[in-house]
Amino acid sequence: APAPPPAQHLFSDPAEIQALRGNLLAWYDKCKRDLPWRTLAATEPDADRRAYAVWVSEIMLQQTQVATVIDYYNRWMQKWPTLQALAQASLEEVNELWAGLGYYSRGKRLQEAAKKVVSELAGRMPRTAEDLQKLLPGVGRYTAGAIASISYGQATGVVDGNVVRVLCRLRCIGADSSSPAVTDWLWDIANAVVDRRRPGDFNQAMMELGATVCVPKAPLCGECPVKKQCRARQRKLLGKPTPVPDVEDCGVGDCPLCPPAAEPWDSSLGVTNFPRKAAKKQPRAARTATCVLERRGCHGAPEYLIVQRPSSGLLAGLWEFPSLPVAQGLQEEKQREVLADHLQAWMGQPVAAGGLQFIGEVVHIFSHIHQTYVVYSLPLDGDVTWDSASSLSRWVTEEEFQASAVSTAMKKVL
Ligand code: SF4
Repeated sequence: APAPPPAQHLFSDPAEIQALRGNLLAWYDKCKRDLPWRTLAATEPDADRRAYAVWVSEIMLQQTQVATVIDYYNRWMQKWPTLQALAQASLEEVNELWAGLGYYSRGKRLQEAAKKVVSELAGRMPRTAEDLQKLLPGVGRYTAGAIASISYGQATGVVDGNVVRVLCRLRCIGADSSSPAVTDWLWDIANAVVDRRRPGDFNQAMMELGATVCVPKAPLCGECPVKKQCRARQRKLLGKPTPVPDVEDCGVGDCPLCPPAAEPWDSSLGVTNFPRKAAKKQPRAARTATCVLERRGCHGAPEYLIVQRPSSGLLAGLWEFPSLPVAQGLQEEKQREVLADHLQAWMGQPVAAGGLQFIGEVVHIFSHIHQTYVVYSLPLDGDVTWDSASSLSRWVTEEEFQASAVSTAMKKVL
């Protein structure tokens, strides 16, 4: 096994751990933001109901800002206040409520997991982080730790993006924070420092600190409750690494948690030297031709044809205008032809490529795809009586479109 990193990157002094816990919890009690899931978790006497409330919030908060989540969360809890209620919902209802929140598989898996708890676990949530992760689809190590510590009081740490930043700064960890070895060490540190009496509050306090004080670009170190335990700040003030009594210095270049020798501490960056990540992969570029087919509805209002995506893969089960991936650099004329063929398959009647009007391009960034929609429009004559025969397509008014399970990208297209 590789040698453990020098102790200066870890928390090994019990008095220092105590001070960290005390300072952080006192600050959290005074400064925490009022958030609906926190209120629910603090006031709900039933542990399983608490767990459900935390679970929903944690899944929504993955990849999404708190301000956006609040409204979705409140609507979700109003519609499905319990796990049992969610287990009875249809995927279509889940997708409709989730529309606009992105990463749609999150809602789907949440609902699948609720069904599993009801049908296979007699309606009882697993109560430890290990069981939550093992038994519930879509629940990873972080979400399991959050549910177990906040709802069931298990003394287990959590590591999310905010905690990574705080821990890397507290302990001057400058090796690639997304690498498996550093990730394992961060979990070990989080488990070592979590407060044994108030693990849920401690974990939320760490995340809150990262979200409001120890922020990525301009951290508010002067107001930070744990500045005395922060080695990055000490290093910035001293201009050199903090001498730690009885602890060996890191060897240049071979410490698994120090910045790589080729990219040493940069004094102009101060505490934001940490954390460091390997360069992100560029998102892949993709093009999709899409057509807004429009007809006059019975009251003269325009109606649009939407079709359902396959039940797996990107945007699974969501509705969209008939769309087709096209190769980069495909000629305009050819693009119209393939799109016209695709429309014909939905409509069951020939579509003239020349009738498609090019409207413009819409760019939407998914996490790993830089997607360009090439948008065409095809207004159909007023007397079109053709109705979609398939359950995978339907005509909707603009209002119905907005209320359907459609992605943000399609709303931009409209
Ligand atoms: Fe973050 Fe600054 Fe606090 Fe250190 S002192 S934890 S860098 S805000």
